[in-house]
Amino acid sequence: MRAERIEPARRILCVFPRYTSSFGTFEHAYPLTDGVQAFMPPQGLLLIAAYLPANWPVRFIDENIRAATKEDFEWAEAVFVSGMHIQRQQMNEICQRAHAFGLAVAIGGPSVSACPDYYPSFDYLHVGELGDATDELIATLARDPSRPEAQVALTTNERLPMTDFPVPAYELAEISRYFLGSIQYSSGCPYQCEFCDIPGLYGRNPRIKSPQQIIAELDKLRECGVTGSVYFVDDNFIGNRKAALDLLPHLIAWQKKTGYVMRLACEATLNIAKRPEILEKMREAFFITIFCGIETPDPDALKAMQKDHNMMVPILEGIHTINSYGMEVVSGIIMGLDTDKPETGDALLAFVEQSRIPLLTINLLQALPKTPLWDRLARENRLVHDDSRDSNVDFLLPYEDVVDAWRRCMAIAYQPEKLFARYAYQCEYTYANRLKVPVSPELKSWANIKRALIMLRNIFWKVGVRGDYRRVFWKFALTRLRHGDIEGLIASSMVGHHLIVFARDASRGRQNASNYSIRLREASVPAE
Ligand code: SF4
Repeated sequence: MRAERIEPARRILCVFPRYTSSFGTFEHAYPLTDGVQAFMPPQGLLLIAAYLPANWPVRFIDENIRAATKEDFEWAEAVFVSGMHIQRQQMNEICQRAHAFGLAVAIGGPSVSACPDYYPSFDYLHVGELGDATDELIATLARDPSRPEAQVALTTNERLPMTDFPVPAYELAEISRYFLGSIQYSSGCPYQCEFCDIPGLYGRNPRIKSPQQIIAELDKLRECGVTGSVYFVDDNFIGNRKAALDLLPHLIAWQKKTGYVMRLACEATLNIAKRPEILEKMREAFFITIFCGIETPDPDALKAMQKDHNMMVPILEGIHTINSYGMEVVSGIIMGLDTDKPETGDALLAFVEQSRIPLLTINLLQALPKTPLWDRLARENRLVHDDSRDSNVDFLLPYEDVVDAWRRCMAIAYQPEKLFARYAYQCEYTYANRLKVPVSPELKSWANIKRALIMLRNIFWKVGVRGDYRRVFWKFALTRLRHGDIEGLIASSMVGHHLIVFARDASRGRQNASNYSIRLREASVPAE
């Protein structure tokens, strides 16, 4: 439980590191918005900020929005950092900057929990989830905030029940600068896909918050100004199906009460298509997108990676079912699997056409620590420790062939004509199946109309006038305008623009082939 007061109070600076440019962070869409600068508010650091004793002043900086300044470091008595493997070098760099001011620096979150040895310079390693290690860190800093002589590793043995989690300190973040709002209902996943570190890090028995906590978080997000899309960052929204069914009526009631101000999105396994009772309630709660880790359309590959649950319904049928409830499917895809053949790229492109999924995050296989894949490849001596590569896996096919196939798939899948044809299908079929919600006063407000006008102006000018695929864009846009579908036009154009620009860079070798790759295209800063 959060302490009300611990004396003496310490001033804590929470710094979230910059992301490396990635397919899934949509940065090429930001210039089309009314000032978005970052992807989603980071749940972990905002949770820790809310958990700190109530009398401790906290400052939160997301370096995707602005860098922590000299004044921030001079204000602080200790610095907290959190992030994923892909932010490793940026986290080490923040540590160096804080040390220049003589500050103790603590690191928590998924990367250090999986790989403490990536962070030799930090003063405190917080390994694991919120729990007894967090209490110990707070007690230690209360006693003495100065840097310890040697690194101190604190490991959570007793996790705080999620029902005791405070509402993340969304009020500390510049919420309007984010592309999406974020919220977390559960943690962990019952499956054991070979490449995934979630079961190892967070367990196979999903832990959950109460529906009342989620409603309180939605209220707070709304108070902080979120009216667009909110993403449930849970690794698998139906990891505990009963819990999902318990939550959904509360979400439906909240949406009805507030006038459907938020569009919801989540991640879930594709076998959700077998659960019409869940899909129907999600439709009523105004879920509009589900990210499914389809990974590959090849059944042999799914079997080999222990993802048989993706085959509980034929994949295309599953996607169609989800679409029929008004929800667009976003798909994760992996290339470089042991089962890949020279023709895998063509099979994947055929799947993209048939599924009509607009957004597929196509990544090269990357072995993450704490996964069965890592252990297997280590046994087979197939882990490659070379940061100049796009993957740490020694593929069975020649490395250059796999990377070339990835570049080709990115180039073809995201050709503007092909992408906007898939979006046109989604507008006509999937979006048409969505709940018809009343237009709330909040959505009709002048502030909201002004936002939409700014976005339309940016899209028309930057894509429709100056863009090199303007002819394809106008064909799509005029149809949407004729249908009065401004929302479909804005959402598809913004995300579509990011995908097209990113895929072009990728196909020219200017982007990482894995969301998990720590390879940086800009100057990197090593650990001290
Ligand atoms: S279903 Fe998703 S979250 Fe669960 S183990 Fe597989 S990849 Fe990980």
